[in-house]
Amino acid sequence: MVVVPSKMGRLNKRALVARLQRLGMASRADLAKSLGMSQPTAGKIADDLLELGVLEEVAEPQLGTGQGSGPRSRARLGRPGRMLRLDRSATRFVAIQLGVSETKLAALPLGADLEDRWAVTVATPGSAAQWVRQLRTAAGQIQGRGAWGVLVSVPGVVDEQAGRVLFSPNLHWTEKTDLKKAIQGVWKLPVELSQEERALALGHQSVEGETEDFLLVDFGDGVGGALVVKGQLYAGPLPISGEFGHTPAPGNTRPCGCGAVGCVETLVSTRGLLQSFRSAARRPEASWKDLTEAIAHEGAPGWLAQSLEAAAVVIAGSLNVLGLRRVVITGSLTELPPVVMEHLSSAIRQGAMWARFGELTVEAAPRRRTAGLVAVGLDRLVLPMTDRPRVAGGARRPGSGRSEATPAP
Ligand SMILES: [Zn+2]
Repeated sequence: MVVVPSKMGRLNKRALVARLQRLGMASRADLAKSLGMSQPTAGKIADDLLELGVLEEVAEPQLGTGQGSGPRSRARLGRPGRMLRLDRSATRFVAIQLGVSETKLAALPLGADLEDRWAVTVATPGSAAQWVRQLRTAAGQIQGRGAWGVLVSVPGVVDEQAGRVLFSPNLHWTEKTDLKKAIQGVWKLPVELSQEERALALGHQSVEGETEDFLLVDFGDGVGGALVVKGQLYAGPLPISGEFGHTPAPGNTRPCGCGAVGCVETLVSTRGLLQSFRSAARRPEASWKDLTEAIAHEGAPGWLAQSLEAAAVVIAGSLNVLGLRRVVITGSLTELPPVVMEHLSSAIRQGAMWARFGELTVEAAPRRRTAGLVAVGLDRLVLPMTDRPRVAGGARRPGSGRSEATPAP
């Protein structure tokens, strides 16, 4: 009896928050209209969220100042009023990107910037103990006071529910580490892990809005993807999905961090691309910048075209199997000269059956990792739909002790 209205309440709150995430700023009347709610209903939800510290009220900004406005905000007519937006004045989350080569940290408000902005970047060390020492130092450098939780982007095969890394081809020490516990030694707060490509897909979705389903593929230290299907981040029966990188490319003999030989990741990760360039150009010291310049001057050499085609085969195969026609590419390939993305997308098109009679989109997009982590925080910590056991740590819940069991209807 109690569960239904409380879940309804949370659903409505989520809808309003998601709308504000995209609009940037809106009046109560605008929100009611765009959500198809009555003004009193939308107003009540907004008041509850204001009280929880999820939203803040601001004077309508002067036209021309971009601060806080989302991509789709527009000039408004009529008399000025009080506007709502996601709270930007208080730190609500500590965000951590545990990357293969670098670890980045930032203290984020709920109304975080759409662009990734990290306050601290350090080289990721080779052990849990060293990593925790780095976190402790970084904790003093970011303004994490008052945060509701710690959100962590983690590479590899991650059981997000259990908060464990099951397998990490490029960062094996995380498999033997209780990351949540380690992080709670630094911040006594709830900790939520998100598989890194899943965070990117959520970030893309929350910033770009209710667009068509897509497959996001990220190229960087590793190569992997995540899917948004029927508007939701896809989760299969196993805590694994989008692992493009570890599909073998015929003829490739490079050993991979996952233990197999010939994985496509060893060709198209940043390290794989550099390795091929250095050996083909006979420049063992060549840098990523050298590679970029060489492509800008000479186009895509044969080894690069072949590596891109190997990646495209896996991506096109996935589209064919899953029934998707939209691919979002993030990461290192998008930073190389345009010929690289052109070659990749034409190779994907060649393999995708839909492209033979329909339209297929392959687009480059910036990484929206912090936006994705904030989406994870909203989803799991602030407005959770399931009453999972709370993470140990005794952290203050949003709204100073107001329990999720007694939300407003
Ligand atoms: Zn592999």
